[in-house]
Amino acid sequence: MIEVVRDPGLLRERLVGSRRAGQSIGLVPTMGALHAGHQALLETARRENDVVVASIFVNPLQFNRSEDLATYPRTMETDLKLCDRCGVDIVFAPEQTDLYPAPQLTFVESPALSAHLCGEFRPGHFRGVATVVLKLFNLVQPDRAYFGEKDAQQLVIIRRMAQDFNLPITVVPIPTVREADGLAISSRNQLLTPEHRQIAPVLSRSLRQAIDLIEAGERRATVVREQALAVITPCAQVRLEYFELVDPELLTPIAHIDGPVLVAAAIWLDSVRLIDNMSWPSAAGNLASF
Ligand code: AMP
Repeated sequence: MIEVVRDPGLLRERLVGSRRAGQSIGLVPTMGALHAGHQALLETARRENDVVVASIFVNPLQFNRSEDLATYPRTMETDLKLCDRCGVDIVFAPEQTDLYPAPQLTFVESPALSAHLCGEFRPGHFRGVATVVLKLFNLVQPDRAYFGEKDAQQLVIIRRMAQDFNLPITVVPIPTVREADGLAISSRNQLLTPEHRQIAPVLSRSLRQAIDLIEAGERRATVVREQALAVITPCAQVRLEYFELVDPELLTPIAHIDGPVLVAAAIWLDSVRLIDNMSWPSAAGNLASF
């Protein structure tokens, strides 16, 4: 039977016994509104650990637009059912005041890794993410923590935080789960109008175009970017936020492709912001999947 714990102190207590018994602990941090993407993380965690903890917490610290926080979908009842089906042992679902009983005055900052991509357009976002994830890491003390490649910059920042702070936690990346038409599954997709939902796969198509060009031997980032953007520009409804080719670990822009590259982009359809990314060479092998 799935246990729902709200209190951070009770969560710690509950996990002491597991740790003493030598059980491995897997953590899947989420903001709820769970979908097939989250499910992939939960299922992998279930396979690899004795105890699986999923956290469901819409973290106010990482929202730079209060409107976005207010409209973020909240579906706790169905989330718990999905967690149960995936064999999660404990759902940690604190209220804001449980995780932030006093104003947070200490933060995790990764300025170099937050300078580009989403970080450039969402000031404070990754500081909020890294800070809450460090809290969760300290409360759960997992052996493994699962993060989606869908949020590539977040994954890089968390992985680097674990490395830089000597955290004894393996950060496990999970490939992006997509709809049949290539759209990366996201809680925000349900906010799209039917018309915009039809248009949205243009984002993954443009990324795929970039990967195809690199795969075909193009090495100039500006050429790849331009030709990939040609997939998006005919859609007048799409507002481009960024489309960048960066180093997959340092997240700094690349001019000439002479090694692995992360291609990442963000677009807006009305007030809905969508992000996606693909990496090369690793994405080249599974392009046929959509
Ligand atoms: P969120 O609830 O949006 O904070 O996401 C929780 C975790 O699920 C993050 O590590 C995300 O990267 C991951 N995730 C979200 N969507 C997907 C997806 N389509 N495929 C794989 N992982 C995902």
